[in-house]
Amino acid sequence: MNKKKTVATISLAGCFGCHMSFLDLDLNLIELFTLVDLRKSPLTDIKELDDSVDIGIIEGGVCNNENVEVLRAYRKKCKILISLGECAIMGGLPALRNNIPLSSCLKEAYINGPTTNSLGIIPQHEDIPEILDKVYPCHEVVKIDYFIPGCPPSGETIWTAIKSIVAGEDPHFSYEMIKYD
Ligand code: SF4
Repeated sequence: MNKKKTVATISLAGCFGCHMSFLDLDLNLIELFTLVDLRKSPLTDIKELDDSVDIGIIEGGVCNNENVEVLRAYRKKCKILISLGECAIMGGLPALRNNIPLSSCLKEAYINGPTTNSLGIIPQHEDIPEILDKVYPCHEVVKIDYFIPGCPPSGETIWTAIKSIVAGEDPHFSYEMIKYD
């Protein structure tokens, strides 16, 4: 009997929708857990990744210095690294701010916006991650081995990709899986 592959997942600058899409694997979740052993993940609430894993999956892009540190450390511990969803692949919705100067974004968010409080302070503290000038796709920070497209990718697309990668094969998606209109 083949040894199970170890898998970890993390969320950077994303909305957790890609993680929620795992639940759309439905009954395939049962088969998934015959193939993989899920380690650190928001789905398991295990916070630390002690050992290296066979496959790492990332939701979300890179928007602050903590995301950079987490992603670089994750790359070192994952033999295969997968960007899951448009935020990880190209920055996604958070990257809408990329054409606006960071100072203008912060002023709108904390001082001028209709939902801000009246303090007029842009939070700054050594414990608060420093926001980057832009939101970056993960492959611009570390090497990424596979990309699973979609916002979020459907459960079927995730299942197709994971089954192939666990079997040591490159995933192939049907036209319907990667057509969004
Ligand atoms: Fe959310 Fe879509 Fe980004 Fe996934 S790709 S984290 S579903 S916004």
